[in-house]
Amino acid sequence: MDVKQRFSLAGRKALVTGASRGIGIELCAVLSEAGADIVAVARDEAGLAAAAAKVEANGRKCLKLPGDLGKREEPERVGRAALEAWGTIDILVNNAGVSFPKMLVDQTIDEWDLIQAVNLRAPWLLARTLVPAMIAQKRGKIVNVSSQTSSVALTEHGAYAASKNGLNGLTKVMTAEWAPHNIQSNAICPTVTLTPMAEQVWGDPAKLGPMVAKIPAGRVAQPVEVCDVVLFLCATASDMINGETIFIDGGYTAL
Ligand code: NAP
Repeated sequence: MDVKQRFSLAGRKALVTGASRGIGIELCAVLSEAGADIVAVARDEAGLAAAAAKVEANGRKCLKLPGDLGKREEPERVGRAALEAWGTIDILVNNAGVSFPKMLVDQTIDEWDLIQAVNLRAPWLLARTLVPAMIAQKRGKIVNVSSQTSSVALTEHGAYAASKNGLNGLTKVMTAEWAPHNIQSNAICPTVTLTPMAEQVWGDPAKLGPMVAKIPAGRVAQPVEVCDVVLFLCATASDMINGETIFIDGGYTAL
């Protein structure tokens, strides 16, 4: 296998959650440019259509599966629908996420529960739906989109940090249980990345300025810089990387 093949996703089928905007829609573009067909999952159907247009512009197929991953039954329903349509899914990218920044004393229980449901429970349910087919073909890749917030304490991020720390732990157990089947499970931890979520959480310059000042690179991340790391973790080139949490943070957590 030459270097292009080791970094190629030709012939692979990837399910991407949170595909309607932000990092997720960029993931659809990058993974399809590398050769993958894409199952795009989110609630916003216009956003899914925009994702599909990017995939099809790269000459790949896109299956749009609208679904609300915060609901108990939805992740498994979406996973089963993907398998029914395409037989197997080679790559799962658990990217959908929500954040409602509040101080711990102000966060509501409903917000807490929704954050855990979308950011943590849905990745588990989707993975366990798709993994039997990965085991049958003796190959699979799971990438869980976590956050730098899983490693550093940020005010107003209690529920979010709990979900992302949980996701890092879940990633390690996925590795313990599924590595023997040649399935690699890894988490990535981006710093602030220019997306609609970042606008919601960091849009106030009074908040963003001090955060950027702590990033040695002196800037936030672009979505494509996150997606390129996901691409590597989905490709054959990374087959010996398993159970890792990889920070994409411009050096933030090195200090
Ligand atoms: P975003 O712009 O807000 O996009 C979030 C995506 O998640 C959307 O496609 C949204 O789709 C989907 N989603 C949210 N709730 C959902 C639900 N109930 N069911 C199905 N899909 C749902 O966020 P982003 O910045 O691209 O974030 C993507 C991932 O990166 C998240 O896991 C986030 O925690 C993580 N992250 C982001 C940053 C950052 O600074 N941006 C930093 C570190 C980590 P619909 O609304 O259409 O359902």
